[in-house]
Amino acid sequence: MLRDLVSGGPALAVMAHPDDESFGLGGVLSALAVAGADLRVLCLTSGEASTLGAGVDLATVRRDELSAAAELLGVTAVDLLDFPDGGLATVAPDDLDAVVRDALRGAATLIVFEASGVTGHPDHRAATASAVRIAGEQGLRVLEWGVAPTVAEALNAEFGTDFGGFDGDGVIDVEVDREMQFAAIACHESQAVDNPVLARRLELSGRVDRIRVTAPRD
Ligand SMILES: [Zn+2]
Repeated sequence: MLRDLVSGGPALAVMAHPDDESFGLGGVLSALAVAGADLRVLCLTSGEASTLGAGVDLATVRRDELSAAAELLGVTAVDLLDFPDGGLATVAPDDLDAVVRDALRGAATLIVFEASGVTGHPDHRAATASAVRIAGEQGLRVLEWGVAPTVAEALNAEFGTDFGGFDGDGVIDVEVDREMQFAAIACHESQAVDNPVLARRLELSGRVDRIRVTAPRD
């Protein structure tokens, strides 16, 4: 399954925050890298609005953390932009689309959080919406990542979070390497590596991640 994806050309993950590639997509990205994918990341904000790690030059710290994590995950190139963290949904869609289009550089697949934004964060939804628009415009494949409804419900009940469940036609569970994901997560020291919601989500998800791949237009 993932091997088929790899043969189509480079894959570009379009993310809102430095750590989304690890906390969210770490399992999927490392599985793709092992399968031989040419992986790139476009991160739209520097994560400067996080309440964790405030008081230092957080944008710089998070850039370095992202580079280290991306390298572990097998990502060959990272574009980190400085749209407002927490404000992506207020950026003109055309402005987001322009940078996603620029970052493609021959990408055949766009990798995104599924449309609910997974955690419900408006930045996640805005990043995904832009990537999906560009995929439609350019006729590219989309790989969406999300969590099963049972996982979302358990997290929301235990932590009062707002996770959306990912289900429906074409959704599948693929086996992933959590060890590599945990190593990448550990690179994001400023973002509380002992994040209980994250730890519980990965525990509930077990050895699989939930994805849906939408074929490119002919
Ligand atoms: Zn995020």
